[in-house]
Amino acid sequence: MDETMTDQSLTIPRPLNLIGGTWRAAALGRELPMISPIDGMRFASIADSGPEDVAAAIDAARAALGGEWGGLTAAERGRLMLRLALRLEAEAEALARLETRDNGKPIAQSRADMAALVRYFEYYGGAADKLHGEVIPFLNGYDVMSLREAHGVTGHIIPWNYPVQIFGRSVGAALAMGNATVTKPAEDACLTILRIGELAGEVGFPPGAINIVTGRGEVAGRALSEHPGVDFISFTGSPEVGQAIQIAAARNHIPCTLELGGKSPQIVFEDADLDAALPVIVNAIVQNGGQTCSAGSRVLIQRGIWDRLTGMLATRFRAVEARPSGEDAVLGPLISARQMARVQAYIDATTAPLIARGTVAPDVPAGGFYIAPALFGPVDPQSPLAQDEVFGPVLAAIPFDTEAEAIAIANGTEYGLAAGIWTRDGDRQARVARAMRCGQVYINGYGAGGGIELPFGGVRKSGHGREKGFVALSEFSRLKTIIHRYG
Ligand code: NAD
Repeated sequence: MDETMTDQSLTIPRPLNLIGGTWRAAALGRELPMISPIDGMRFASIADSGPEDVAAAIDAARAALGGEWGGLTAAERGRLMLRLALRLEAEAEALARLETRDNGKPIAQSRADMAALVRYFEYYGGAADKLHGEVIPFLNGYDVMSLREAHGVTGHIIPWNYPVQIFGRSVGAALAMGNATVTKPAEDACLTILRIGELAGEVGFPPGAINIVTGRGEVAGRALSEHPGVDFISFTGSPEVGQAIQIAAARNHIPCTLELGGKSPQIVFEDADLDAALPVIVNAIVQNGGQTCSAGSRVLIQRGIWDRLTGMLATRFRAVEARPSGEDAVLGPLISARQMARVQAYIDATTAPLIARGTVAPDVPAGGFYIAPALFGPVDPQSPLAQDEVFGPVLAAIPFDTEAEAIAIANGTEYGLAAGIWTRDGDRQARVARAMRCGQVYINGYGAGGGIELPFGGVRKSGHGREKGFVALSEFSRLKTIIHRYG
């Protein structure tokens, strides 16, 4: 084990919520244990908040809108966000180490998450004063203008797999547009978000602009999603909870974005550059332990290259070793014992042939949640392994003959988040990209560099609405039309 796991210098947030600029214990005094996936040991606690804590945070956000935060100009909001970006950059290494302890992800992945977080605050900070409305030609004697205004209080419910990146993209865009935010991070990994809240206070964010309430999903998350004082909900998580969020939003007549799961395909045609594709395909399912909404969890392989590509993949898979999340780790532990059991159950239940399995390092801490990556194939496209989001390092290889068949298999799940196409044929690249029923298509690459500038979101069971990029500013604001008749 390297020092990532034993670092005593980490600033570990206390079990408190950030409400209206002050740090408070849950009203009922309850706490939840935080378990590090690296060794399964409790190393911290968080507030186990109830509806009363959530309500206090919503009240604080509302007060901020009528107070100092609401009085800032767009440029002033942007400048604060840029100041936070600089502070986050200065603290990036310490934050990455905290994230790795909390979440278990390899330190290299935590560093990449911090780089993306900084970019979100830079990008949305810079954009805060750049989304403007229009003057619309209308009848004589009228001036008509449209303008963008904040929703008001925005709720942000965040999962454990990329807490920091998702905080950056969703809270960042909301703050840029002048909303006051209440975040409910996931109970499995939320310490880094609490630390970011602390740093935001230190750089001068007014009280109540950023509120953070930790706790269980079915208690604190539910209370946030159902509270009539919330004007917009940004939810990232599972399709099942997403559905409940949308029902709650409908009851309150408010909009929401749902960023949900995926079963994203990588389609490899016979003319593809296999040497270029190979490391990208493996990384797309091994990165973050396969616990990525846009993980490339299906690889569709044209029959003529089936033996060659599955052979190449097998060699790579066998070389992947799950190990504690230090400098040399590519695959770390999964988030929890529950998640490990879920992934193992899929591996045990599949009837498809096992092509290759990686390993778990012999010296991993006994209590950690390590699982060896697995490549199965040929997998029946209708089987659970090809249809369900496993959320682990398990890749389903599926053969196909024609382009039409590949498109049908790729689009043949309830999800539609991302897709990858590997071919040198330009016409085919254009045809297949347009035929994909999903939110993002990569051609001869996959998941490039975080892509904070690139609109992201799903279709059907992968959700709706778009976050990331400039377009997210439209999601986190609403349009008002002012019709002015003059004499
Ligand atoms: P989850 O749905 O269990 O939890 C997500 C968040 O919702 C957590 O904060 C949780 O506490 C909260 N929650 C749980 N029950 C709730 C309820 N009844 N009411 C309100 N809130 C509730 O998801 P997870 O297991 O943390 O995350 C994994 C899922 O997230 C996967 O499906 C993954 O694909 C998806 N995800 C999607 C994206 C994307 O951008 N599309 C990104 C990351 C993760």
